[in-house]
Amino acid sequence: MDDCIFCKIVAGDLPSEEIAHTERVIAIRDINPAAPVHLLVIPRDHIPGIAEIAAAPEGLLDELFGLANEVADKEGVGDSGYRLVFNNGPDSGMLVPHLHLHVLGGAPLGPIASAGAGRG
Ligand code: AMP
Ligand code: ZN
Repeated sequence: MDDCIFCKIVAGDLPSEEIAHTERVIAIRDINPAAPVHLLVIPRDHIPGIAEIAAAPEGLLDELFGLANEVADKEGVGDSGYRLVFNNGPDSGMLVPHLHLHVLGGAPLGPIASAGAGRG
């Protein structure tokens, strides 16, 4: 995907701070952190979103979550705890339409969502 920021990072055409990688997945530091620890775990292949996960190669999700667990430990939040987030589609605030798992931690994170539409 020519215009995809994460495809460019995977290809080495855009710089990033890589924390770790496997054959099919990379973990980088988020450029605009929303928590003291904010990493992104990204499949190297361009998977647009959750709807396309079913067509992803076998074992890819295991690799994705495995690397999330590894980098959480590496960044020192394995024991203190962390939140894993997939944004998907406009209301989620998804900015980059290339599947990625946010790893957030390093401080108490507060409520899981700020909008809370429909509650109350
Ligand atoms: P999302 O809103 O789920 O699509 O998240 C995209 C995330 O990518 C945001 O948290 C951005 O701060 C982050 N981001 C955008 N460009 C870069 C970049 N070049 N390097 C690292 N993180 C980035
Ligand atoms: Zn992409």
